[in-house]
Amino acid sequence: MAYQVPLLIGGKMVPSRTEQWLEVNNPATQKVIARLPCATAAEVEAAVAAASDAFVTWKETPVPERARLMLRYQALLKEQHDEIARLLSRDTGKTFEDAKGDVWRGIEVVEQAANIAALSMGEALENVAGGVDCYSLTQPLGVCVGITPFNFPAMIPLWMFPLAIACGNTFVLKPSEQDPLVPMRLAELFMEAGAPDGLLQVIHGGKEVVDLLLVHSQVRAISFVGSVAAGQHIYRTGTEHLKRVQAFAGAKNHMVVLPDANRQQAVNNLVGASVGAAGQRCMAISVAVLVGEAGNWIPDLKAAMAKVRPGIWNDPDAGYGPLISQAAKTRVLQLITRGKGEGADCLLDGSQVQVSGYPDGNWLGPTLFGGVTSDMSIYKEEIFGPVLLVMTVDSLDEAIALVNANPYGNGTSIFTASGAAARKYQHEIQVGQVGINVPIPVPLPFFSFTGWRKSFYGDLHAYGKQAVRFYTETKTVTARWFDDEIVAGPNMSIHLK
Ligand code: NAD
Repeated sequence: MAYQVPLLIGGKMVPSRTEQWLEVNNPATQKVIARLPCATAAEVEAAVAAASDAFVTWKETPVPERARLMLRYQALLKEQHDEIARLLSRDTGKTFEDAKGDVWRGIEVVEQAANIAALSMGEALENVAGGVDCYSLTQPLGVCVGITPFNFPAMIPLWMFPLAIACGNTFVLKPSEQDPLVPMRLAELFMEAGAPDGLLQVIHGGKEVVDLLLVHSQVRAISFVGSVAAGQHIYRTGTEHLKRVQAFAGAKNHMVVLPDANRQQAVNNLVGASVGAAGQRCMAISVAVLVGEAGNWIPDLKAAMAKVRPGIWNDPDAGYGPLISQAAKTRVLQLITRGKGEGADCLLDGSQVQVSGYPDGNWLGPTLFGGVTSDMSIYKEEIFGPVLLVMTVDSLDEAIALVNANPYGNGTSIFTASGAAARKYQHEIQVGQVGINVPIPVPLPFFSFTGWRKSFYGDLHAYGKQAVRFYTETKTVTARWFDDEIVAGPNMSIHLK
């Protein structure tokens, strides 16, 4: 019988009493890795109650002690880096190197969470009026919730709970039902690092479980990362129930290539950024916009993409792994067929690619479409597979207009040797994360992850200073200490003197 994933509630790994179970499959083999419970309403209630109880003492825990927990956690994660990456490779199919990157980019956020004292300091100003000082304090909210996608099972949970908890909150994590074992391992290590019981709960399931959290009276804030449809639903329902919500959603990221760019660099970066991780990154490049003479580089691009092939996690020659599920592969295949039907030119077709010895894996080879126009559904929809679309335009202005007309605004990049062109692009583009000769500009955690438009619903973004503001309330104190002498009668005006 397959391993049954427990829930983490109140510091204990507990078996679920649910009757509804899902299977977790290895995407390279379809082997059942585990059975996953869809938590019952009572279990969701117990998780929130445990978080709520733990908040009473955790919010009073001195900031340096919270920071030390993060330091111990960071050290443990680094120690277990390879082991977590191996688990991640098995569950997602990512190559080992890429899996290590997924874990590493999460560890970097934990490092940042250890810096919570500096990050959460308020402001102070004396003499804002006669003998009056003013200062601000940041205080935790209470129970925060995280709902995470399949594609970064280490990094994205680590975007959320370490910072929320370092701020003094407690947390309920609902990881993706497609690869929940890495988040469980992260939670185990958090307990091993000395996290008091109830700081972090992990519950499992899909929409029904999420919906219970969205309306729960004790939940104060919700962080979500995933698809647009789920993000819109979570943002609407969470805010309707008067919660703070940050929802990071889907994307369609363009790389603009000017003819003065280094040709080989541009081609190499396009290949890695489009088909790396089988294109299952929210910051993957899915559209190459070749400007002017760069339009002649399509044969180079095709040749470079054709050299990449998928494979299993520990094959040193594999460029990337399988898609996460058979359903995901079917969806991408349908989009490829639709692209052909819409008149796009399929220059490289990975639909039939197989990996020897792994006939059941969700493999898809690199796929390249030329002649794409912005009215085609392959351009309008997020494909989330190893598929790159190429569009050609005559000028930088045209490229900017194209990218700005696309509803998504997660990431974009420009490859050029011209500082002036890069400066113009950075200034005029309506996208929240811009790379200049950097294809996937995911900011390091001292900054924040700042998607815009249809890629983000909310105000304050993930990690960095914005996340600390998201996970805290600001309290502003205005203070006057009287000496003995009463100098004036009642002040009847609003003017603070
Ligand atoms: P998904 O939306 O299917 O699932 C994400 C999470 O939401 C899961 O935990 C799932 O159980 C839950 N969920 C799904 N549908 C729901 C619903 N209707 N109501 C409530 N909860 C629901 O996303 P996925 O397939 O796991 O991840 C891929 C998507 O995530 C892509 O669209 C990708 O662009 C996006 N993504 C965005 C970012 C970003 O930072 N903007 C980062 C990573 C992934």
